[in-house]
Parts: sequence; C-alpha cells; structure tokens
Amino acid sequence: MRIALLSSEVVPFAKTGGLADVAGALPKALSKHGVDCRIVLPLYSQIDRSVLSDEIIEDVPVQWRGQVRPTRIFQSDAAGAPAYLIEAPDFFSANSIYGHANDHERFAFFSRAALALVKHLDWQPDVVHGNDWPCGFAMAELRARRRYDEFFKNVKTLFSIHNLAYQGAFNARDLWWLGFGESPEKDAFMLEGNASALKAGLLAADALSTVSRRYSQEIQGSEQGAGLDWILRARRDRLAGITNGVDYELWNPETDPYIAANFSTADLSGKRECKLDLLRRFGLPQEPERPIIAIISRLVAQKGYDLIKQSAGAIIETGAFFIALGAGAKEYEDFLQRWHESATNRVGIYKGYAGEPLAHQIEAGADMFLMPSYYEPCGLNQMYSMRYATVPIVRATGGLDDTVTDFDPEEGTGTGFRFREYHAGPMLDKIREALYFYNHPDAWRKIQLNGMAMDNSWEAAAQNYIKLYEEIIAL
Ligand code: ADP
Repeated sequence: MRIALLSSEVVPFAKTGGLADVAGALPKALSKHGVDCRIVLPLYSQIDRSVLSDEIIEDVPVQWRGQVRPTRIFQSDAAGAPAYLIEAPDFFSANSIYGHANDHERFAFFSRAALALVKHLDWQPDVVHGNDWPCGFAMAELRARRRYDEFFKNVKTLFSIHNLAYQGAFNARDLWWLGFGESPEKDAFMLEGNASALKAGLLAADALSTVSRRYSQEIQGSEQGAGLDWILRARRDRLAGITNGVDYELWNPETDPYIAANFSTADLSGKRECKLDLLRRFGLPQEPERPIIAIISRLVAQKGYDLIKQSAGAIIETGAFFIALGAGAKEYEDFLQRWHESATNRVGIYKGYAGEPLAHQIEAGADMFLMPSYYEPCGLNQMYSMRYATVPIVRATGGLDDTVTDFDPEEGTGTGFRFREYHAGPMLDKIREALYFYNHPDAWRKIQLNGMAMDNSWEAAAQNYIKLYEEIIAL
C-alpha cells in the first residue's frame, strides 16, 4: 500500500501543535506494518538543514501561474519514514509557519508541488492523505486531475480534520490564478462569499477523518460545526474518527533524555526529582509537597484560557503552584505576565514556543495537567500526562472525553477528572477534587498508575488508518 501523507507541519522538522506530532508519528507506525508511507512538507527556513540527506531531486516541474516552475525537493529520514521537503524560498523563508497574508498562495503551491513530485517520481500513491486546510488545495486538485490525467486516475484521497475552526479563508478572486476558477472546483471552495481551502477539502476528498470519535460527532452539530456542520452531516457515511496515538519512543518517562530523572510504574521516585527540577527552572520555591498544576498550550480561546483568567485568584487560594507554557494571543500572554507578577512565588510562566525539552520537563515534573478546552479535536497533552504520572483535569469535550476517565474512589478506577459545563465554577470544583485526592497519597498513586497503564500507542491507531485506507481504495 502506498500512502502520500501531506502536512504543513511534521515532527521533527517543524511544529506549532498536535498536527506535527501526528504527521511525524503516523508514517513511522504505518511503515512498521509494511505500508510505503511517504511524507511531503514545505522546506521552511527554520528547519535544521543537518537532518536533510545529500540527495536532492532537481527540477520537478510545477505548473504555477501559467508557467512551469522547476522546483528542488530535499529528502530526509529523520521522521522514521521517507520525507520530501519542497523548496520555495519565496514562500517558505518567513520565520513562522502560518500567519502571512499569502498563506493560501503558499500552501496552494505546496499542494501543487506535492502532486507534481509524486508524478515526477512515477510513484503512484493509492491514497493521498491531506491534513487540515493547507492540504485542501491538493484534495480539490486531485479530484480535478483524475478527469484528465491518467497518472492520477486511480489515486484516492483522504482529508483529515485536526481542527475545523482553521478554514484557510481567502479572497475568492484569487481562485482564478490559483487554478480553481471554474466549476466544480470553484463551488467547492466558495463559503459565504469567500474561498475556503478547508471547505474544498471537505467536499472534494473521497473520505474524511477526524482525530477522535467524539469530535467526529461534535462537528456534525451547529455548536462545534464552525459553519460547516452541514457538509459533515451530509458526508457522515464517509467520516471516520480515529483517536491519535502517542509516540512512546519520544514520550516515555523511563527513557526520556530531557528530564532530570527517569521513572516508571515500578519506581516513581524519579518524579520527585523532576518536580524539584521544574520548580528550579521556573524560579519557584523548592517545596515539593505543594502540588503543581501545569498547562502547555497555544494561547487561544479554544484552550479555555478565559476560564483560567476568571479563576486566577481562586487557583492561587488553593495553595497550588501553577506553571504555564504557551505562545499565542497577546491578551493571554499579558494575563499570564500579570498573574505571574501578582504571585511570583506561585505562578511560573514561559511565554513563547519552547520546543520539546521544556514540554517534557513540565509533563514529568507537574502533578496535575489542566486542559479546560472549549473544544479539543483530540488533544495530546492529556495522553502524555497520563504516561508521566501527571493527572489530567479536563473538560469533557472531543478527544479529552474519549481518552480520560473519571476517578472512582470506590472502585479505584479512572485516570483523571472531567467537568462538563464550560464555566469557571465546574473547573474549580474539579481542581479542588483533584487536590483533595492529592492529599490522600494512596488514592493519588492509584490514579497515577491507572494513567500510566493506559495504552494510547500508535499501534491501534495505525491499524485503524490501514483499515480506512483499504476501504477508500475499494471505493
Ligand atoms: P493543538 O494541536 O491544538 O495545539 P495538542 O494538545 O493536540 O493541541 O498538541 C499540542 C502540542 O504542541 C503538544 O505536543 C504540546 O506539548 C506542544 N506545545 C504547545 N504549545 C507549546 C509551546 N509553547 N512550547 C512547546 N510545545 C508546545
């Protein structure tokens, strides 16, 4: 089976969030099952060039704005599966992955070059697997190409939604020169007077998937449907929900090279050292008995920062430390700064994208991990937390609801604490409940061990993807 996996971010090359973790881990897991999965991503200027091999594919002919643009493609095995990185300095040398006025142009070029590449290599994929709006262009183009290009005649498409709220909207006038100016391509893009690359992907792909079962249901309703729920309802027979896995080669407290001391279910003592190390890193007092509540997330409304803002005082009153790592909206960065300044010996913050080591150190050193998301397609940190004996406190939405279960003190079952209503009160209640059990070491140990025993490996997820690819190939 041959799968071309297209993604705008892939670990270990470039990352802003969970999509990169998935795009880095899934191909590796598929390869273990004998699937010939190859990754295609842009060659951003911030990518470390030392991970690239010396073999460069020269002069791949990419049709762009009425001309052929010869494009160089670099290669790497750093993700554990072959990766092709598309060079286009005029598009990919900006210092951030997204957030540019011409993002639609950048990723339309990426999509087109990815298809040109597989054709140039004469490597015919069974399925082109696109992820999120940057790959919506590839889905639309492939559907069109099948009508006139023999090479793509039997190539199928899967479009995975990692976040429905990012829709790749742009001025519909640009559809003409991007090559999508005529029906039915144009219709697929049009959304409320603008063009949307996400909508095009949702309509043009042969099949759709999201990153948890619960999110696949939620996006069929108006509350989480981001204006596109009608498409997802109409296409629900072709919409699968496959929960992301965890790359336990990277996220394993027994072997993690980034953390102060390794630990395991058999011996959790290293976690205390990690906690002291974490307190030191954030300039907080060395008080290991005091619980640490942590959060790592993009600073956007989706992640529930408004609830944290409303409860800032009450959280401090519980007596816990709070450690936050995040990059994003200025409003929330300013809030974190003010919160830190008002309680310097309780609140530790890191504003910005810190890379992998600090994220691992927080997972290892914290006692509780807070994810009060308004919505959460899958969420990875709650799964990382469980493996690191850090107890998740989550809002029961999307993948958080699918992967965390409530602690039941009678039965001794459950891996964390969940609240339902998106309000500060229920969140605080759960934080207090978690702190109550933190003070009962036997119960706490039980929750930690239950979480560590969860198997969220890519193994199961990869098998589900293989089954899905087989179904798509048979369409
Ligand atoms: P999302 O994809 O919505 O951002 P996920 O929970 O699925 O959320 O994945 C987030 C990933 O990004 C995790 O691996 C997390 O550790 C990482 N991450 C988020 N913000 C930062 C940051 N500021 N610094 C380092 N890693 C971060």
